[in-house]
Amino acid sequence: MTDLYGILFQGLLYPAWESGLRRRPTLRYLKRLERTQWCSLDELHALQRAALRNLLAHTFRNVPHARSRFAEVGVHQHDVCEVEDLAKLPILTRDEAASHFEARKSTVPPLPAIGKMTSGTTGRPLAFGYDRDSEYWRQATKLRGYGWAGYRPGDRSVHFWGSSNALSPPPFRTRVKVSLDHSARREHYIDCTERSEDALASVTRRIKKLKPSIILCYAQAGAALARHVIETGSRDWRDTPVISAAERLFPNDRAAMAEAFGPGIFETYGSREVMLMAAECEAHEGLHVSMENLIVEVIVRDGASQRAARPGEIGEVAVTDLHNYGAPFIRYLTGDLAIERSEGRCACGRWLTKLEAVEGRATDTLRDGAGRPVSGLFFNVLFASLAHKVRQFQVVQRKDRAIDLMLVPTSQFDDALLELVKKNCARYLPGVELRMELVPEISVEHGGKLRVVRVES
Ligand SMILES: [Zn+2]
Repeated sequence: MTDLYGILFQGLLYPAWESGLRRRPTLRYLKRLERTQWCSLDELHALQRAALRNLLAHTFRNVPHARSRFAEVGVHQHDVCEVEDLAKLPILTRDEAASHFEARKSTVPPLPAIGKMTSGTTGRPLAFGYDRDSEYWRQATKLRGYGWAGYRPGDRSVHFWGSSNALSPPPFRTRVKVSLDHSARREHYIDCTERSEDALASVTRRIKKLKPSIILCYAQAGAALARHVIETGSRDWRDTPVISAAERLFPNDRAAMAEAFGPGIFETYGSREVMLMAAECEAHEGLHVSMENLIVEVIVRDGASQRAARPGEIGEVAVTDLHNYGAPFIRYLTGDLAIERSEGRCACGRWLTKLEAVEGRATDTLRDGAGRPVSGLFFNVLFASLAHKVRQFQVVQRKDRAIDLMLVPTSQFDDALLELVKKNCARYLPGVELRMELVPEISVEHGGKLRVVRVES
């Protein structure tokens, strides 16, 4: 529920900061998105078509890697006029994106002013960039999607998820800036890596004290917390909406979360590369795609041929980032699998297309020496911040709880990294033997996906 500070923040402080002082168009974009979410499907497709044509006109002219790839398959700019024509263009795999970092950048402004790293769900870190305008679109898209769950910046929120800051701290100045920003927005961050009963009891106490308007969590972490709350009979709060991210939300986990926090459980699907791709609305019937910012395709590949997945069919997610001109992602394979859903108006009234469910984001839960559960995303978060030193990784926890960690080093790899990994393992996985091995490559398993964190059963 929005209180006085929330009203002040949303009505005055935030607009003054974002639109006035920083002159960012985020809130203007958000207003536009709040309007276009009620557009008809034809209108939404027209928006996508116009944005796609502009993006491709820029890409054909100014992005060397895309230009040469398009030329290889003999596709010209005038061949791609409709959204369906995207299928004529080659897909961009993660390996390809990682290998052509420089050639994927635009040679003219807008340049990729923001650079990031991700370990993703495949274990191979990727450096990528995007321009500032794309960042404003991303923020506005996130605010709208989270808004469906009731999230408003400035309302008190608890974020129960992984923090690379805790594992590999950034410079002091950055930490102070981030912490001030979180305080103003009243965002409370709690590291979800540790999932022992003690850790969950401590999170429960924080929630009782803070009485947040909304909780944001990694799916598996939120589910573990919910089960703890139910088993200990700790719930003393009113229904609190929960936004679940980063991992797949399984039906039994959703049921536990609904019992512990209330019926408003909202699954979201995003990635570091393009941020919020799809989010659940109040009708809770699939995830609405962020159509104004992204074209999300679900494709079925069979050898060299490919086609769009039919409703109910599972396929690979390929995303086209409509407002990133700095280093475009066009038909980029996220590494996730999703189930396609037929088009049609949602019970909420929106025509935004939907994904039925996103598969392949399941991570195994690790155990420390005493058998206490630890988030399987722990290593993803750690190596996302160390991508300049490690090209790829894989973790296998054996039956005796020993961990085999395979690392593919980059030229910047050093002993300090080994020390940092050892230190974090000793902290989060006490009592577990850690064996590290440097390898030239890690082979991908069936389906082209690597189980980055695997626990032997
Ligand atoms: Zn809906």
